[in-house]
Amino acid sequence: MAGTKYIFFTGGVVSSVGKGVTAAATGRLLKERGINVAIQKLDPYINVDPGTMSPYQHGEVYVLDDGAECDLDLGHYERFIDIRLNRACNVTTGQVYAEVIAKERRGDYLGGTIQVIPHITNEIKKRIAAVGKSTGAEIVLVEVGGTVGDIESQPFLEAIRQLRSDLGRENTMFVHVTWLPFIGANGELKTKPTQHSVRELRSIGISPDMIIARSDSPVDDELIEKIALFCDVEKKAVIPLETAAVLYEVPLVLEKAGVADYMLKRFGMDAPTQPDWSNWQDLVKRVKAPKPSVKVALIGKYVELHDAYLSVAEALKHAGIHLGVEVEIHWIHSSDLEKGKSWEKIQAANGILVPGGFGSRGIEGKIQAIRFARENKIPYFGLCLGMQLMVVEFARNAFQDESANSTEFDHATLHPVIDLMSEQRDITDMGGTMRLGLYPCVLQPNTLSAGSFDTNLISERHRHRFEFNNAYRQVLGEKGMRFAGLSPDGKLVEIAELEDHPFMVGTQFHPEFLSRPNRPHPLFVSFIRAVANGVGIKTSGDQ
Ligand code: GLN
Repeated sequence: MAGTKYIFFTGGVVSSVGKGVTAAATGRLLKERGINVAIQKLDPYINVDPGTMSPYQHGEVYVLDDGAECDLDLGHYERFIDIRLNRACNVTTGQVYAEVIAKERRGDYLGGTIQVIPHITNEIKKRIAAVGKSTGAEIVLVEVGGTVGDIESQPFLEAIRQLRSDLGRENTMFVHVTWLPFIGANGELKTKPTQHSVRELRSIGISPDMIIARSDSPVDDELIEKIALFCDVEKKAVIPLETAAVLYEVPLVLEKAGVADYMLKRFGMDAPTQPDWSNWQDLVKRVKAPKPSVKVALIGKYVELHDAYLSVAEALKHAGIHLGVEVEIHWIHSSDLEKGKSWEKIQAANGILVPGGFGSRGIEGKIQAIRFARENKIPYFGLCLGMQLMVVEFARNAFQDESANSTEFDHATLHPVIDLMSEQRDITDMGGTMRLGLYPCVLQPNTLSAGSFDTNLISERHRHRFEFNNAYRQVLGEKGMRFAGLSPDGKLVEIAELEDHPFMVGTQFHPEFLSRPNRPHPLFVSFIRAVANGVGIKTSGDQ
């Protein structure tokens, strides 16, 4: 789009140094100045999207309004910048190749030999431009996944190199995020790997305009001068970014370092408004303030990798910050519960949460924990699979029949209380075929869930194939299950909750994707309030 400026983030030295958070925080700096920003992630893997990948490979799958199944960095972007992104904001090598090959088969390139340059790189450039077009953003931030030097990311780097000439130097900026390792007995930070990765970047024709040097300890001025000199970047544009105690401090650190002002000056742009960080500073202050703590048991099957439940953990924290309680998450492996292990953690928990999931491994362990929560009146929050299993557990008890189940786990069950949605029956493809994205939910009067919101119509993000089986609505309703949220046509149960329990709520949707640090999700707030009240802690809801 004419006039759109692009900031490209590349990574050097090692992966997992927080390039996504850095890009997201930069987006916030620009948004605070009244600039319309958008942000995109380019992922070098060949999967079309991470939807079919194991969370062990990739962490959680983050879902957008339009149903795109995305990299978890999109979650950082939405939470830090407080924007809603769309499908164009996550591009993978798989999508690019699928498109180019489809065009080739259609005959769009008749006569031509299809090559990485220019066909693949042109498709990448088209997708970068699409973000500016679809959002009307003045500045588009683009994060290139992986580390410079990876074979997989080369076409993306070549595409952004070309964009500098296509769009002009005045409209593009390259930010390289690197790592300064801490080495030796006298504990020195080393700049050599940064120098090497900048050299590598130069060898493919990209000269960074800014270097963000991540480290675990303070970076002194001498080191910054050294990086500036050896990497040929202005000293003002070498930004040290020490690992922050609180993730949400990162925008404040980058603000102080003058990152956004430098960028705007480089683009010749004026900031429409001056940034006001008071809310954000207040947020960080509240995160750091000592507060009474509560224990929430989070039961999953990928708990060794906390990133597999990143948005859930964040949403719990947001609610805790809002209510003035520290939420300690106790990660519990569902299979351990089946082996009789980890029950002491369940017994010690003040609240229990079962997040989304797929497949039968660990299901019975989760159901046992849900039973414990129901019988002992421990606040329980079930998200998607966690809601479905809450229904299964309740039905097993109501019917005195342990065979009640979801047909995802037992095709032949006599009581299929959770069943495949009718529109899912003929689908055989696994990728991108679930009920995905934003759908409305009407809250039913006199329910705990409705009491959590100040509206009765909400719209939430989904990712599932199975649903509550309406054949059981009446009978389970008579036994004390309330259907607190329904699709507008009344056909789909979106929220189930139990009467006669302080908080036993399950949502068919994923509320965690809409929680923001300054705007926690109302159901997470209600859950944590019930957890805190359960152990006699008074919460300060309107902080
Ligand atoms: N496996 C369940 C389904 O497909 C739950 C999905 C989820 O928890 N996201 O409906």
